[in-house]
Amino acid sequence: MSTTTYADRDAGGALDRARAALVQEVPATDVGDHLGLIEESDHVTTHYFGCTRAGYVGWRWSVTVVALPDAEPTIDEVVLMPGADAVIAPAWVPYRNRVQPGDMTPGDLLPVADDDPRLVPTYSFGDDPLDTDAKAQIRRVAGDLGLGRVRTLSPEGIDLAAERWYAGSPGPSAPLAQAAPDQCHSCGFLVRLVGRLTETFGVCANGDANDDGRVVSLDHGCGAHSEVRLAKRHEPQPLPEPTFDTITPDDLESF
Ligand code: SF4
Repeated sequence: MSTTTYADRDAGGALDRARAALVQEVPATDVGDHLGLIEESDHVTTHYFGCTRAGYVGWRWSVTVVALPDAEPTIDEVVLMPGADAVIAPAWVPYRNRVQPGDMTPGDLLPVADDDPRLVPTYSFGDDPLDTDAKAQIRRVAGDLGLGRVRTLSPEGIDLAAERWYAGSPGPSAPLAQAAPDQCHSCGFLVRLVGRLTETFGVCANGDANDDGRVVSLDHGCGAHSEVRLAKRHEPQPLPEPTFDTITPDDLESF
């Protein structure tokens, strides 16, 4: 595409035809000045007109005209396009990519796609050339045969979880862990995981800790570590010995 002047491309009155086509589609009061044109190809030109419609600051009408030699120009399309300064909505993100932990409420369903790379069939069938119907049949057979879970975490799914946990609040960079006197790997409240994650993560089982019931990295930590002891200066001051007052009459005796 290249820009050129209106005079170069207005053979056959293409500009007038473009404006006429535009005001057939939208109210004339919404159409502003001719802003310029772009050559799409040898015989195709797009004309731009200002948009004066309320709320469309920076938008412009785009009218594409086809002008073949020895033929009347014809209108290809009329659309409203955002200009460089137009206020436009942010790019649409599919809901699956917008869902965050904590968004689900009771009764919500969030199905996992058949080809979700985080999961693999519990028993492998190679490159999985099966279509959706065949997969459904295999699920049914697996269920009938009692083969346990239909799918389990794939290596990719495990890695993604490990990266997410380690970088988040269960990891070593959490403020709680940074200020902790010791780490989870030496804490008596840590429950070990089995499988690939055992060397990096466990579950905190200290009911007094913020992370009770949550996965924590072995180099996470908190002030509720099982071996934490208070320094002398942190211990509560001992109370003075009680004294028995046998001289002052109290309220009870005055009745
Ligand atoms: S109590 Fe603290 S140090 Fe112990 S496992 Fe839980 S989070 Fe880790």
